[in-house]
Amino acid sequence: MSWREAMEDGIPVGRDSRKYSCYYPPCHICGAPVYSWSYIRGAQYTCKDCRTELVRQAREKGNAISADKKQKKLEDAVKRISKVTDIAPYKDAIRLVTQNLNRRGWYQSTEEIMVALELIRRGIKAYHQVRIFEYAVDFILPDMKVALEIDGKIYHGKDKLEYQSVRDDVIMYKLGEGWEMIRISTDNINQNVTRLIPGINAVLVRRSTTRKIVKST
Ligand SMILES: [Zn+2]
Repeated sequence: MSWREAMEDGIPVGRDSRKYSCYYPPCHICGAPVYSWSYIRGAQYTCKDCRTELVRQAREKGNAISADKKQKKLEDAVKRISKVTDIAPYKDAIRLVTQNLNRRGWYQSTEEIMVALELIRRGIKAYHQVRIFEYAVDFILPDMKVALEIDGKIYHGKDKLEYQSVRDDVIMYKLGEGWEMIRISTDNINQNVTRLIPGINAVLVRRSTTRKIVKST
């Protein structure tokens, strides 16, 4: 029983507002009394302050792990680019990405890092992880009026397609006239990231031609 064990273990016992027994076992870290409605011998009690501190430490550890993972992704990105082109012109880009590597929500994948490196190397103004209403767009290229999304997987299934089309509509509505949403697959990026900008330009040309054709008929 709670009460007898508490007595035996020298745990302070009190009465709560409804006259029930309550217990004050010591915090297992700092020893401060922890309010509890029961006492279980051998259980670990943690005071509010120590709990907050534990959560903070756990979070820090989590961030440290993700920092390691991001560092590995950056290394992979550099390796993959080195396979298709001379890495030397990316030196400044690598430095810039390294400085911002651990920003929350940034550089989630190796391909995102490759795209960032390519955009910086080419001197193209870009914003990463831009929030538009409840959505986050991978890259916004204001001078090209392009919202750029890096797609890991081809979206199958009606629900996903519908979600994506609603999402794209909302984003395009917010960005305004003349903007284009362009999706590039991770496969394309991995094959040769130096084709990223020519690829985007080709899509833009194709779409403007399509629009003209639609208008003239
Ligand atoms: Zn404590």
